[in-house]
Amino acid sequence: MPHLSLTLLGAFTIALDGEAVTRLESDKVRALLVRLALEPERAFRREALAALLWPDAAPAHAAQNLRQALYNPRRALGDAFFLVTPQTVQFVATADVDIDVWTWRRLWDETLQHRHRRRETCRHCLARLAEAVTLYRGDLLAGFTLTDCPEFDDWVAVERERLHVQALDALTWLANAAERRGDYATAQTYVRRLLALEPWLEAAHRQRKEKPRRRRPCWKRLCAIRRANRPSASRRRRCCVPCVTILSHSPGEQLSACAITFSCSLVVEWMNDRVNNTHVEEKTMSQEYYTVQICCLTRHLPLFEVAPGVRIAIFNMLGDYEVVEAIADELAPRLPKDADALMTAEVKSIPLAHAVAVRMRLPYIVARKTRKPYMVGAISVEVLSITTGAPQTLWLDGKDLSLVQGKRIILLDDVISTGSTLAGMRKLVESSGGQVVAEAAAFTEGNDPAQWKHILATGNLPVFLG
Ligand SMILES: [Zn+2]
Repeated sequence: MPHLSLTLLGAFTIALDGEAVTRLESDKVRALLVRLALEPERAFRREALAALLWPDAAPAHAAQNLRQALYNPRRALGDAFFLVTPQTVQFVATADVDIDVWTWRRLWDETLQHRHRRRETCRHCLARLAEAVTLYRGDLLAGFTLTDCPEFDDWVAVERERLHVQALDALTWLANAAERRGDYATAQTYVRRLLALEPWLEAAHRQRKEKPRRRRPCWKRLCAIRRANRPSASRRRRCCVPCVTILSHSPGEQLSACAITFSCSLVVEWMNDRVNNTHVEEKTMSQEYYTVQICCLTRHLPLFEVAPGVRIAIFNMLGDYEVVEAIADELAPRLPKDADALMTAEVKSIPLAHAVAVRMRLPYIVARKTRKPYMVGAISVEVLSITTGAPQTLWLDGKDLSLVQGKRIILLDDVISTGSTLAGMRKLVESSGGQVVAEAAAFTEGNDPAQWKHILATGNLPVFLG
């Protein structure tokens, strides 16, 4: 059997028996290969793949395009890697294949699941992480995009972000461990890579250089763990490696915790500068904000008038992976352990459903607001919006029915304000023969939080009147 090698971290490359494959005819074919290969346990329905890659084409035309797109890699690579039926297409996980993302996932999962006393000193985990970061040549499919396939691009963005955050964590652990054992040259290498992954740190570095009279910020000392051969400085350096993660992830309040933990007053000064600058920017934007504390993160939510004299704080976690991860960390341990699946309604709460699902190791179902042409055996429910009185329809794809029927379901939303989407999801679960066992949200909203006391949430957003 031929050996297939796929490199997806950084630029996309593909090789068969060590020879680069150049006969893949289009980016759509590459995208198809990647989509199948990153979820090898799943048999994709042809309709779903066709709609993913040709969303604007008529179903028959999209199906024809998919047939052609499937023919190309099977001719170039052989049939061993694909399980193709008239209804479904699946990547063969047991074929002779190595994919850097598969290896990354394995090393990462083994590290998280390893029972050790301290991960910074666990040589097994450090060896795994060191191997993993050598695979991380760049972000997932760096520079690869399909502008006419927004759903594919969204999926890549979520996967890319997850791997990026894992890479930051891995490099931080490795840098900490190297510093702990006095191997400053290695620590410096990992820190350089951290900075390369978080370009805004470099920008801040340049900005600081332009203001030479100001005191040098702590993180600059961090960039320069290069003073490795001066052991007397090691105590001061100790604050630096953890700071890089904190600085790169969370401007604002986490900083004081960092300062306390690592006695690093210069970090405080530097970050206060950033926070103050942020305030100035807000004032010049002449928009009002409502500030929320989400676990240890601070976010300023813009106020938006939804009716004369009624303003709400707009909470949108799309793209804000820190907030998504923080909320998932808070909600997941509070949700029933014996649930079978999560359900959410598109679109803003999807990343949260994903992050909670990963923590609970449960599947999740996305209820759609329109019927998609590729849905087969879909069911729908209609609910009236409490505020507008307008009907809202939620759709469940037939492929998801088995995840709901006879199962215990957790409903999840981003903000629960009127409860109509939640009511729709509840109805969808009940009409599919499932049972709702908990209801959760990032936030509830309204001036009577008691009405939402049955909802698990990280906080309540007020409505601003007058
Ligand atoms: Zn370990």
